[in-house]
Amino acid sequence: MSIHALVVETQRGKRGGRRIIVDTCLGNDKENRRIPTWNKLQTSFLADLAGAGYAREMIDTVVCTHLHVDHVGWNTMLLGGRWVPTFPNARYLMGRIEHAHWTSQREREDMTAILADSVAPVRDAGLVDLVETDHRICDEVSLVPTPGHTPGHVSVRISSQGEAALITGDFMHHPCQIARPEWSSTADSDPEEARHTREQMLTGLAGTPTLVIGTHFAGRTAGRIVRDGGTFRLAV
Ligand SMILES: [Zn+2]
Repeated sequence: MSIHALVVETQRGKRGGRRIIVDTCLGNDKENRRIPTWNKLQTSFLADLAGAGYAREMIDTVVCTHLHVDHVGWNTMLLGGRWVPTFPNARYLMGRIEHAHWTSQREREDMTAILADSVAPVRDAGLVDLVETDHRICDEVSLVPTPGHTPGHVSVRISSQGEAALITGDFMHHPCQIARPEWSSTADSDPEEARHTREQMLTGLAGTPTLVIGTHFAGRTAGRIVRDGGTFRLAV
């Protein structure tokens, strides 16, 4: 598996182009993470992003498909001992259902640190918009509800010039779940709902030209869903 942040740039039309980052990986300097190697990271994420043509000030929208640790990390960065928004010129879109769930639950103690260093600082800075699971971001980009991995989980659909793509988020983690949609990740909050979402999404995608971009797919990150006997597979 790998962990991706994906930048979507829309055409510069009358209203100007958009630069949207979908999920923000793990972040640097974070502590109290359940997985030991995810603590106090020092990666070149921001330099790599700038190298790809996107200085952090250029991003106008941050989308969190859900609020797990590996999707919100670079929401903030450590500056002078404080967590500050990494993307100061962006609106941060978080699901209203997702945000309400994690800010009211007590079962996942590890989420307390994640919310405190990666969600609260952007909320306190007034940069968060709580959105519905089918929110339309702009003409070409909208959210698609894909619950089960978390209660308010969303994927991101891109439609442009007659073509379509879907950024999965975590409704599936690995291409093996395309062949075996009944296999749930241990991180799925509701395995039955997650399975139902995968079956429904794969059925809808199969045989279509929609490019499916896996947020955690290592190796080839994108492909198309085709039917394979009684199930599906990723065609690349
Ligand atoms: Zn994830």
